[in-house]
Amino acid sequence: MRAMARRNYFSTEAFDRSGHLRRDPEWLNARLADTATRLLLLRRSLIPVNSERRLMLVAAVVTDLDHAADGVVFLGLDPDGSAVFAVDVDGDGRADLISVLPEGHTFVELRGAAASLPRDEGHRAAYASAMLTWHRRHRWCGTCGAPTVPDWAGHIRRCTGCGAEHFPRTDPVIIVVVTAGDHCLLGRQAAWPTSMFSALAGFVEPGESLEDAVAREVWEETGVRVSDVVYNSSQPWPFPLSLMLGFHASAGDKPVDVTVDETEIEDARWFTRDELAKGIADGGLTVPPPFSIARTIIDAWLEEGA
Ligand SMILES: [Zn+2]
Repeated sequence: MRAMARRNYFSTEAFDRSGHLRRDPEWLNARLADTATRLLLLRRSLIPVNSERRLMLVAAVVTDLDHAADGVVFLGLDPDGSAVFAVDVDGDGRADLISVLPEGHTFVELRGAAASLPRDEGHRAAYASAMLTWHRRHRWCGTCGAPTVPDWAGHIRRCTGCGAEHFPRTDPVIIVVVTAGDHCLLGRQAAWPTSMFSALAGFVEPGESLEDAVAREVWEETGVRVSDVVYNSSQPWPFPLSLMLGFHASAGDKPVDVTVDETEIEDARWFTRDELAKGIADGGLTVPPPFSIARTIIDAWLEEGA
């Protein structure tokens, strides 16, 4: 199966991260005093939207923020050159910041809002959410246990004890559509709606290549051996800190018996292209939403047979 260079939701090329500016305190201070600079205020992982479900940002000058403070992250530059910062309003003494949001705003879960946000808004909400989550989870040094403090406009945390530098992390997760001739193998978790199936997925373990992780996850969850692991595309997945890496893999010419590991998934079964396409069309089968990479790799396989 050929690889497809598809850009998945939550990613964009239309945003300049300007990494070199993160270490320029004078420039950062000037931006926070600039009427063009915008802030994205998050309440933990909740994002502010207006009545039309569009992301709401506020002018930086209505606040009194320090770029070096915990919970403040310089995200980058908009296409018009304006700086954008993310701010965790649940941080120390920041609850009042919510009052600077225009009337009519509500805070909503990013996962639910993703379907309605334009791509560039989905990208910055995902980026901001993942960065602020990382800060909340890395307040102490993993090496010596002392408190850490942010630096580089929120793109590093430095240990106050041993001086270790800690960088934002993202956890690789493989997700794979396994095929055998005109069939593909999908699984479901017990917590999902009963009609829902998706591609198999799992965290990459230390010492594994991505191809190894694909083969191991499929074997562990379904007892099926795969080969010909082919990369499709990737997607930042801020729930909370993952990078999804999408693949197709072959289990041979014909479906083989499936042995489900019920500690990982509830069920896994083979679907023909027709079954899958018809099930999705008539609602008898539920697959992940169009903004997810799971759907990208399922649709890519369906389209290949069309
Ligand atoms: Zn330390």
